[in-house]
Amino acid sequence: MHRLITDLYPICRSITGKGLRETLRAVGRVAPLTLHEVPTGTQVFDWTVPQEWNIRDAYVMNSRGERVIDFQTSNLHVVNYSVPVHRKMRLAELKTHLFTLPDRPDWIPYRTSYYKEDWGFCLSQRQLEFLPDDEYEVVIDSTLQPGHLTYGECFLPGELPDEIIVSAHCCHPSMCNDNLSGIAVAAFLAKHLSSRPHRYSYRFLFIPGTIGAITWLALNEEKVPRIRHGLVLTGLGDSGKLHYKRSRRGNAEIDRAAAHLLRHASYDHHLLDFSPYGYDERQFCSPGINLPVGRLSRTPHGTFPEYHTSADNLGFVHPEKLEESFDACLQIMSLLERNGTFLNLNSKCEPQLGRRGLYGMVGGGSDAGVRELAMLWVLNLSDGNHSLLDITERSNMAFDSICAAAEALQQKGLLRECCAFETPEPAESFERTKS
Ligand code: ZN
Repeated sequence: MHRLITDLYPICRSITGKGLRETLRAVGRVAPLTLHEVPTGTQVFDWTVPQEWNIRDAYVMNSRGERVIDFQTSNLHVVNYSVPVHRKMRLAELKTHLFTLPDRPDWIPYRTSYYKEDWGFCLSQRQLEFLPDDEYEVVIDSTLQPGHLTYGECFLPGELPDEIIVSAHCCHPSMCNDNLSGIAVAAFLAKHLSSRPHRYSYRFLFIPGTIGAITWLALNEEKVPRIRHGLVLTGLGDSGKLHYKRSRRGNAEIDRAAAHLLRHASYDHHLLDFSPYGYDERQFCSPGINLPVGRLSRTPHGTFPEYHTSADNLGFVHPEKLEESFDACLQIMSLLERNGTFLNLNSKCEPQLGRRGLYGMVGGGSDAGVRELAMLWVLNLSDGNHSLLDITERSNMAFDSICAAAEALQQKGLLRECCAFETPEPAESFERTKS
């Protein structure tokens, strides 16, 4: 994952254009990806697919012919989506188009101007302080023309049409945690799942932030009812603890699965309630869509100084943190895959477990005690109305213990799975709990 990030780091991405396509083609070499091209001007709900932006070069040159700000040294130097410019101007006029971070004098900020035709340069505060008054040649060799919005989709059919969607935004230029870490974890999850059997179908979306999610939802509305769970992945490589942000529903199966998993797998973590600010969960959890889509990150965006600056670089993301994030995602998915609802076939009083070799037979240690207790919980609550996750929460045991108990009972003919994934809604909805 870190190597993929290293390869993608230099590319100048945006919400459209060649850098985005090049990124998606690279992801396509990790996992099977289909690229979709949506023409400029396409109406997507309240939005319109914008013109395609491409850039070849940009610089500010002083009167001695030296490039004092140079896109070739960092693509963050140009305000993303800047319109073409080729003019001479004095420093005072140039300054109205310059952006710095006075508090972090060595870092270059990241700025965009997607929906307002404008241009600008970003530079370090130190660079700015060294600029004397002069006549500068300002060049942005960009194009803003009708073209396409590109997104990548990897669909992995499972036994069921019910889908789990995973989305990662891929519209930021050279930034590693915001953007590339989510892309890398999602790409390798897709690669991993593509070679293994799974019950759910998986749909991985590699999309430009906001407009990409809106575009996908507008053009694929008929697929929305099949989406059972979803996860937005971003900011997964920094050294902070894992943060799971609940869906708008607040108590969706994925919210409960993530909370249980992070607690029981002893990850250093924090749970966040939904808010309508953040990444593409804003679109997936808009009221008319209202999908059970949560978000997994490490340190939340905007709460670390490196966010949206040149300091979100290769040194800011760590292979072992990417690996831990990847494992957490996989475990959440594994829990969802195994969370069935069962029926106790011997529900009048307890079945005789000892006769079936299920009780007091194995060693008699504390492990056996856990196994037996888990079986009693599964038998007691498997009335067709409680999923294994419900039983896990009610018993305060680990999902793996409850799942293993269900398997053992099934093998002895004491339990039958109800129609796959007919998992009942929890008895109390979030809204009702609130009121
Ligand atoms: Zn961002």
